[in-house]
Amino acid sequence: MDKLPLDTIEIDALEVFANHGVFPEETALGQKFLLSMTLYVDTSCAGFSDCLDDSIDYGAVAHFATDWTKSHPRKLLEAAAEDLATAILTHYPLLQGIRLHLGKPWAPVGLPLREVSVTIHRFWHTAYLGLGSNLGNRKQYLDDAVQALRNDVRCRVKAVSSYLETKPYGGVEQGDFLNACLCLDTLYTPGQLLTRLHAIEADAHRERQIHWGPRTLDLDILLYDDLVMDTQTLTIPHADMHNRTFVLVPLAEIAPYKRHPVLQKTMVQLLRTLQTVE
Ligand code: ADP
Ligand code: MG
Repeated sequence: MDKLPLDTIEIDALEVFANHGVFPEETALGQKFLLSMTLYVDTSCAGFSDCLDDSIDYGAVAHFATDWTKSHPRKLLEAAAEDLATAILTHYPLLQGIRLHLGKPWAPVGLPLREVSVTIHRFWHTAYLGLGSNLGNRKQYLDDAVQALRNDVRCRVKAVSSYLETKPYGGVEQGDFLNACLCLDTLYTPGQLLTRLHAIEADAHRERQIHWGPRTLDLDILLYDDLVMDTQTLTIPHADMHNRTFVLVPLAEIAPYKRHPVLQKTMVQLLRTLQTVE
């Protein structure tokens, strides 16, 4: 995401009659919902061209959101807001993010109130992944992983590097690897993305036996925007990426000038440093 303040288009208090709710009377009778949205979109192109194709048609978004809200009942406001945000973000390519406020003025609380509501902020994020395989039909495993991500509505694969034949790393005796990197835009949080990658690994019959041992498919998160995080299950940037030629060669191919947010060096600079050490 850009560091500059983003341009916005606002839709305020769109009224929709729909059937979200936990109680039977809510799902049967329906009630009024109020939907407000801030659409994050670069309006400068349309600002110069005065052409609607260069921006997002707020009328179309309002109709899309109304139809969706009426036809996808959810128990919780949280789920309605989440799924509607995903639907809008995946439907409008120019949209970088959304603030979505879903209010229920007639919420059956039994007390006088103006509205209960949920507000969420969702953005497309850019992630770089490392792919590796050294068992079975290695190219097929990598191809299938790329295809699985292409088929995921919450991901947009932007670039895939060449596949690189490499020697195993980490001291375990095993077959050569086929490695690659890819760049994708995603609506997943880092944790959700890791879970998704583990599911794709499981589909490739990946078994976790030996650390750094042979595997049909290994998918790692290398970078996620300029995020720096360290938990028990997830370290971003990937803790060892700057020491691995099989990561930096394909990464330098698709993102030569991308800067490592901790080491503050581009992928090309990291690769050069590693090659002079070797
Ligand atoms: P490796 O990739 O190091 O050979 P695994 O694929 O078996 O090993 O991953 C082991 C664990 O590493 C995963 O279950 C995950 O929780 C953790 N992990 C930490 N950071 C990352 C990351 N950036 N990408 C992928 N996995 C990570
Ligand atoms: Mg891994």
